[in-house]
Amino acid sequence: AISVRGLQKHFGDKKVLTGIDLDIHAGDVTCIIGPSGSGKSTLLRSIAFLDPYDGGDVQVFGKLIGWRETPLGRERAGVRQLAETRRPLGMVFQHFHLWPHMSVLNNVTLALRLVHGVPRKQAEETGRAMLEKVGLSTFADRRPESLSGGQKQRVAIARALAVRPKAMLFDEPTSALDPELVGEVLSVMKTLATEGMTMVIVTHEMGFAAHAASRVVFMDSGRIVEEGPPQMLFATPKSERLSQFLQTWR
Ligand code: ATP
Ligand code: MG
Repeated sequence: AISVRGLQKHFGDKKVLTGIDLDIHAGDVTCIIGPSGSGKSTLLRSIAFLDPYDGGDVQVFGKLIGWRETPLGRERAGVRQLAETRRPLGMVFQHFHLWPHMSVLNNVTLALRLVHGVPRKQAEETGRAMLEKVGLSTFADRRPESLSGGQKQRVAIARALAVRPKAMLFDEPTSALDPELVGEVLSVMKTLATEGMTMVIVTHEMGFAAHAASRVVFMDSGRIVEEGPPQMLFATPKSERLSQFLQTWR
């Protein structure tokens, strides 16, 4: 579904990703863990080409994202090509970025209506179905400000799902939440996982990674140090770096 080859990214002189290879298969739930600054967000953002990467390839459902090949080399893809290639990806971030002046339902249906040109009635049907999926069917007419953080994040998930993505990227979706609200968001994500959604999740929730992930990827200093099924990675880390990292979570 997503294939990353030799991915490199630097900010000025600082190398942030130093040749990442990663394959995400359909139905995989891949959790990315690692210390702060190891490049997890940069990897996720590069997959969606929110930042241009500097070297290597990212293919999203068979298409190179962000660049087009020309006889003279690579050029940045145009806005439309980029939007088209990015289309199968739904994204959820730490902060929810909901529109405060719009109802919950309008937040969820906005992209469907404006970007995809779906008529209002049909968009609202889809929107209500997605709100139901995240357990918020009675919240359609509320304003985001009247919602808890966990509810806002579930609206953000419903919004991402509304355009029927083929894969979902999450960057620390529960990190900004009060501890008692984390569970409701993780439980929505677990349901998505059991329904077969392809998911890439940057998270510090080791319990979630242990139970919901089909694969865990451990990053440090811009590279993938270890990866494997959670049982293996958590029980028998091969590298000193991962053992140390896991100790801080016990
Ligand atoms: P965290 O767990 O704290 O979210 P992370 O693993 O997501 O960390 P990144 O945000 O990918 O790490 O950052 C990797 C490195 O790149 C860090 O050293 C960071 O300071 C640097 N970096 C990230 N974004 C930028 C930017 N826009 N400009 C300059 N440096 C950046
Ligand atoms: Mg990050």
